[in-house]
Amino acid sequence: MISVEEHLATILAAVRPAEPVRLPLSDCVGLVLCEEIRSLVDLPGFDNSAMDGYAVRSADVEGADPAVPGSAVTLPVVGEVAAGGVATIPVALGQAVRIMTGAMMPEGADAIIRVEDTDGGTETVEIRAGAAIGTSVRPAGEDVRAGTVVLEAGSVIDARRVALLAATGHGDVLVLPRPRVAVVSTGAELVAPGQPLAPGQIHDSNSHMLEAALTECGAVTTHRLTIGDEGSEVIRVVEELVEQVDAIITSGGVSMGAYDVVKEALRDSGTVDFVQVRMQPGKPQGFGTVGERRVPLFALPGNPVSSYVSFEVFVRPALRTMMGLRPAGRPSLKARLTHQLGSPVGRTQIARAVAVRDEAGWHADPVWGQASHFVADLSRANAFLIVPADVTQLAAGDEVEMWLLDGDGARLTAWPADLEAEAEGAGGAVDAAGSSRGLTHVRADGSAHMVDISAKDVTAREASAAGRVLLSPQAVTALRSGGVPKGDALAVARIAGIQAVKRTPELIPLAHPIAVHGVSVDVDVDVDAVEIRATVRTADRTGIEMEALTAVTVAALTLIDMVKSVDRHARITDVRVVAKSGGRSGDWSES
Ligand code: AMP
Ligand code: MG
Repeated sequence: MISVEEHLATILAAVRPAEPVRLPLSDCVGLVLCEEIRSLVDLPGFDNSAMDGYAVRSADVEGADPAVPGSAVTLPVVGEVAAGGVATIPVALGQAVRIMTGAMMPEGADAIIRVEDTDGGTETVEIRAGAAIGTSVRPAGEDVRAGTVVLEAGSVIDARRVALLAATGHGDVLVLPRPRVAVVSTGAELVAPGQPLAPGQIHDSNSHMLEAALTECGAVTTHRLTIGDEGSEVIRVVEELVEQVDAIITSGGVSMGAYDVVKEALRDSGTVDFVQVRMQPGKPQGFGTVGERRVPLFALPGNPVSSYVSFEVFVRPALRTMMGLRPAGRPSLKARLTHQLGSPVGRTQIARAVAVRDEAGWHADPVWGQASHFVADLSRANAFLIVPADVTQLAAGDEVEMWLLDGDGARLTAWPADLEAEAEGAGGAVDAAGSSRGLTHVRADGSAHMVDISAKDVTAREASAAGRVLLSPQAVTALRSGGVPKGDALAVARIAGIQAVKRTPELIPLAHPIAVHGVSVDVDVDVDAVEIRATVRTADRTGIEMEALTAVTVAALTLIDMVKSVDRHARITDVRVVAKSGGRSGDWSES
């Protein structure tokens, strides 16, 4: 038997993101954007009115004040402009133009009087309140300037981002497509829901459940078939489907029974492995790739709960990986049990539960029926509880790992190249036929991005950097004697260096935010310079050299700022890493 993690790793190593395609906005919800998007227009596109009212010159209505009787101003209404219309009539001194929300500002007008502050007249208008220049005017480009980047590659497209894409002029965008998936239920006993049952028959719920689960995770079910228990039929159907889809899911026929035909038929194909996974439910699993295009095939067990759990644990992460979505699996939460829960020895139990959240956090109530045929209890559950293989009994109040089955929350994901980099970092577990790899920090379009480092190990790391600020003899003397007019320049520089370390990821685009465990910044006054040296420590997944360099650079800049009244020619030189330890690239120091 193999562990859940081992089987999932095999699957994830065999799938990879599809080629990006250009799709109309209406097909893009839930998909990952593969290009940087710049606005094609200014937003708003032109100065326009934020209110229904009158476009005026502010100076003409200056004295109008609702609190002052007799202060109202009456102006002739020289025209009207609605949204979508072109403002052709200018507003001259002492004139007003009637205007609707979103309509173009007429030339000459510099403010809008809302209709509520007028008598609503069409020939002339009585204006009862003044308005400063710009009141209720939405200036062109206030929201977005044409040409600015509005969405990064890697963004997951949702309704709000569709609004932005449409408003900025994009009717179609480059995305990772939805995997096309075929679902095949096997079993001579299966009858379509809606059809009457003869003795011994049951309704095929798995193919419908799988289709729904595919829709929920953003894939598309292109085929949903129900076939019997003939091995030859399984082979025929798979051979036919493999040309047309990106993944195949079968249900049933993988356990130990006499009619476990999926296993028998596909085992001989040589590319699909049938394994026993240390989990409950869902022990028998088949996975492999079929056909020239190496289409992933998931052979799931037939019991409906086992099928669903298998989909969640193995298929969904694979499909999300193909779609470039991150995280691949459900985020892991912690919950407290409301009831005790027993678990089989030596198997990871995926228990179904009803989860609720209050001020104290999540509480999980395991559903009564944990057997793999209880569909009603499955449908009540909104969470999985993951009970490790070595735990056999949990008491009420115990903490347990939980996956919520509704919603992921992640809107920005790793770009496909990150997935490759990540797989590389995890030991090259990528498809052996892997494509050539480019620069991990630069996308195809040349833009920079951060590599996903979540698969890397946490390691204690230290880095030191050094640099020099070249100074005049007068400045050196001033520093030595405490005679810098602005104060203790060396102390301020040291503090600035320490502060800067904490800001490094905000300043350097590719630097990951990491927990800094210690910083020291030392400054030494030499005959013609100040030597700055910084040492930074962490225990994290990525190096800390940039933090050390930032400390030195900012300390140096601060020193220049402090002494510039004494030395206008102070100069920073020789900023470099002088030593590092920890991490995959090993220890190093400047000789
Ligand atoms: P199998 O893995 O084919 O031996 O199926 C295990 C159990 O799941 C049996 O009780 C089947 O009747 C049931 N089952 C198999 N396929 C389906 C399906 N598509 N819908 C509902 N139940 C199924
Ligand atoms: Mg069967």
